[in-house]
Amino acid sequence: MRIGFPRALYYFDHFPFWAGFFHSLDIEVVTSPPTHRQIMDQGLKKANDETCLPLKLLAGHIQALKDVDWIFLPRIVSVEANTYTCPKFLGIPESLLPAVPQGMPVLTVTMNWRKGKRQVLKELDFLGEQLGKSRSDIRKAFSKGLEWQKKYQDSMGAGWNFEESILELKQAAKNSAESTKVPAPILWKERPTPQFPGDAQTTDRLRIALVGHSYLTQESYANLNLLKRLREKADVELVQNVHHEEVESHLLGLRKKIFWSHSKQIFGAGNKFAGDQRVDGIIYLTCFGCGTDSMVQELVSRKAREHHKPYMVVTLDEHSGEAGLVTRLEAFLDMVERRKVHEGYVSAYGERLDRDSNAL
Ligand code: SF4
Repeated sequence: MRIGFPRALYYFDHFPFWAGFFHSLDIEVVTSPPTHRQIMDQGLKKANDETCLPLKLLAGHIQALKDVDWIFLPRIVSVEANTYTCPKFLGIPESLLPAVPQGMPVLTVTMNWRKGKRQVLKELDFLGEQLGKSRSDIRKAFSKGLEWQKKYQDSMGAGWNFEESILELKQAAKNSAESTKVPAPILWKERPTPQFPGDAQTTDRLRIALVGHSYLTQESYANLNLLKRLREKADVELVQNVHHEEVESHLLGLRKKIFWSHSKQIFGAGNKFAGDQRVDGIIYLTCFGCGTDSMVQELVSRKAREHHKPYMVVTLDEHSGEAGLVTRLEAFLDMVERRKVHEGYVSAYGERLDRDSNAL
């Protein structure tokens, strides 16, 4: 059995869990190819005009899945206690059905961790029934999924790249599928934990924090290779590399809790970067039509202003052009560099002007 998993949206956060889960059930998971022009165009045709770019991309990736028996579109309601995912996640799979090729069955399951593990397992049992798997198979698969997800998240916390982590995951799955003699895959083998160069202050390179949803910061086609371009010129910190505990500690002081899980992570990490003297500037990557970012981006910008941190917002949509992005990026990095080298941390022009001059 081959299950199609679109390489968009929750792929960037939850794929390791589902890869481990289906691997344990002896089901092959086929992902769509990395985004390209045609995928984007197909997505634009099938998705609602008013929706955000990541959902349009998801619509395109669904159509790019070939030779699969099912398309897997989970409804991820909540990933931890007291939070929800964005309302647009809750509308999946129904809102994406127009993108599903005619006659292709959709496999779905509701993941709601707010209601606890027992409820999640109940939903997975129902999924297992559709796949002809027993309850004990599902229990084993669930543990395997959690194990892969944890290793993946630990690897991100240790500063691994998303691509590196996913490659490691795929290699492990391939090894264990090729030979039954190969012991259970050992993921993310012992490797020295990467050090951020700025930790030891050994380099003059700039250190820039790229803040935003994983499915925007890691989606190189949609973000016009922003991450790669940035890495050529600076050391980059990502929200996804910040440990959960640090995120939580930087949420304290908010007058009201943020109840969208991604937004919590973005604000907590953004707040940490704003106060971190080793970070020279913050770029907030958002997309047109994102409801949660319209609020969280403002909160992060206030924190950046409070700490006199250079700050820039990049808003993506399907019409974003490379030339405009490159120009803005270069101007921002020039400004940050100038400030670092020539002005120190305090503006020479007085607090008021400095406060207003930290955003491009
Ligand atoms: S959080 Fe924003 S970008 Fe993500 S799915 Fe919701 S509206 Fe779209």
